[in-house]
Amino acid sequence: MSTDSNSFILLSQPLHQLRGISLDKAALLQTELGIYTIENLIFHFPHRYVDKSEIYTISQLQDDMPSCQIKGKLGVFQTVNSKSRISRMTAKFTDVTGVMDLVWFKNIRGVERAYTVGAEYIAFGNVKKFGRYFSIVHPEMEQVKSETFAAQSGQMSSVYSLTEKMRKRYVDSKAIGRMVNEALYAVANQIKEILPDALIHKYRLMDRQSAILQIHQPKDISYANDAKRRLKFEELFIIQLSLLVSKQLRQQSYAGHIFDKVGPHFVDFYENHLPFKLTNAQKRVLKEIRIDMRTGKQMNRLLQGDVGSGKTIVAILSMLLAVDNGKQAIMMAPTEILATQHFNSIFKYLQPLGLNVRKLTGSTKKSERNKLNEDLTMGTLHIMVGTHALLEDWVAFPDLGIAIIDEQHRFGVAQRARLWAKNVTPPHMLVMTATPIPRTLAMTLYGDLDTSVLDELPPGRKPIQTMHYFENFRLKTLQFMRDQIAEGRQVYVVYPLIEESEAMDYMNLNEGYDAILSEFPRPKYQISIVHGKQDATAKEAEMQRFKKGETQIMVSTTVIEVGVDVPNASVMIIESAERFGLSQLHQLRGRVGRGASQSFCILMTGYKLSADAKIRLETMCRTNDGFELSEVDLQLRGPGDLAGTKQSGILELKLANLSQDQAILTAARESALEILNIDPELQLPEHKQLNKLVEKGKLNKDGLHWSIIS
Ligand code: ADP
Ligand code: MG
Repeated sequence: MSTDSNSFILLSQPLHQLRGISLDKAALLQTELGIYTIENLIFHFPHRYVDKSEIYTISQLQDDMPSCQIKGKLGVFQTVNSKSRISRMTAKFTDVTGVMDLVWFKNIRGVERAYTVGAEYIAFGNVKKFGRYFSIVHPEMEQVKSETFAAQSGQMSSVYSLTEKMRKRYVDSKAIGRMVNEALYAVANQIKEILPDALIHKYRLMDRQSAILQIHQPKDISYANDAKRRLKFEELFIIQLSLLVSKQLRQQSYAGHIFDKVGPHFVDFYENHLPFKLTNAQKRVLKEIRIDMRTGKQMNRLLQGDVGSGKTIVAILSMLLAVDNGKQAIMMAPTEILATQHFNSIFKYLQPLGLNVRKLTGSTKKSERNKLNEDLTMGTLHIMVGTHALLEDWVAFPDLGIAIIDEQHRFGVAQRARLWAKNVTPPHMLVMTATPIPRTLAMTLYGDLDTSVLDELPPGRKPIQTMHYFENFRLKTLQFMRDQIAEGRQVYVVYPLIEESEAMDYMNLNEGYDAILSEFPRPKYQISIVHGKQDATAKEAEMQRFKKGETQIMVSTTVIEVGVDVPNASVMIIESAERFGLSQLHQLRGRVGRGASQSFCILMTGYKLSADAKIRLETMCRTNDGFELSEVDLQLRGPGDLAGTKQSGILELKLANLSQDQAILTAARESALEILNIDPELQLPEHKQLNKLVEKGKLNKDGLHWSIIS
């Protein structure tokens, strides 16, 4: 295997420097997998392994078996045509125990050329039963040449993910394996340890070089697992270290406003106008915020609190601190409805203080904008509540003291950055998430923020009772609505769709609205309707009717998901609830249970439910705890699919999985903290490699100074 041509190759060199990799192939790997260098190639890990010792006979096959391999003889290809075009090709595959089908829909000519009829192959793939025969669609095929196969049997073979283009050009998993082998042979001795010895010992990690060899060519599954654990740790550890270094850097280089005065507005509001006693959690969080604001460093704090935990009042008091120290405050919400809602309650709360509290959204009129601009320039505007419109260029505060973002995961890092770019001294930042996020996600997505948690609901709340009903409970549900309305309560009915979709027979909003109109006739009942296609004024008018109690039923789509606050509403009916995600269901449910009376959430579904939908519904009925729900959600959907996390490149992890690797993540975070405690600048010799990596990471994300924004 050894050739001289590979002897002076470096990790950082381009792929085609390796023996057996043509410029063409290198270009293919570059466009298809983003692999440029030899280092990239050896960090392109297999996504699974096949145990070559396990070969099934056709008689052993069962329907829906996970991927497995079968050794057999390839029969002649048969094509099935439709309208003059070949649409499918099949071949019989036989062993001594029986016969099965191999099926191809794509690249038919290529397959025909690549394989030899009558030869013996190992076919690999998912087995399904169609009619009489088992079949594998698009099997991975490897010809059995007695020597090579014998040499490999009993070994783990690595499977690398491929793209369609690669398949077409016959670059299969085996080919990648060979290239990796070549690369490892050439550069393995250049793979240097980066983790300090202490960590390796503490967590009994495989050394780096072995891990990379073993993840590609494991001796057995336990080696593969150890290699993965080591590399996952490394991955998560570097991220955590970078996040914490960013945070450190930001605090060192950016002075923050010092709000050391607890001034007249805060005191007046706190002593005379606070509508309720703060919960202990609210007091604790407020204290955390006040301490932050006194340090002279910019606050970057994440406030997590379940629906109804009372984040708004914390936001208001924080804004008053800014105002009392001669600064302005803004609060930004993701939707017009929510911004309006916030504005209304903040305006109401603060009216007695005589502060200039204003609203800015996309639908704010030109004349009002001019006035706002005037007030901004004069410095007479204290608090502005709004949507993304707050980020428009003309919105320039003389001295913005705090920016509160009720983010619902919808504001990206870049948007938060824009808020801050306008100011010499950055405003303190308080990011509020209403959907609790799992600890592992918070640690990764917001790992460079300080966190506060409102883990206590205001007193006197009765836990919401949640039920799951099928259509046969419709009449009961309607009666229940009448009863509740008779007791003076109000009801939400939420639909997932606005318009009928041909493909789906879900009840849509308009149909539902009509059905409810006929069950709840005027004038005895009044009904509001709100959906995404209304303009802001119409929406607002309908909301207000419901809020004032002029209507008893609010029929809507999910636009009411966030922030709507009508304490008298006690029933939330969610139609086609199986179509909603857990966090959405939880958000919707959070619209009730805000007043003194017992509240209910009714999840209406069709009879046919997927396994995941069943889990979601059961979980909703079992618990009201948003954090618990978010953990279940993470397990069901994986981090990539959780609402709004896509924009964060941080979650594009190579190996680690935030729903499965919580223990590794926690260890990585703790280790990073410990190391920075002892050696904040990463100057010790054993941290030299880490220092280099973190520096590199900073450069990669640069341009927007990602490291200094939250
Ligand atoms: P969140 O934004 O966290 O979902 P809100 O700030 O909208 O919650 O508060 C939910 C409801 O609870 C509001 O009606 C609010 O007036 C009320 N509330 C908040 N804090 C308290 C408290 N300490 N005691 C009683 N009611 C409270
Ligand atoms: Mg809120």
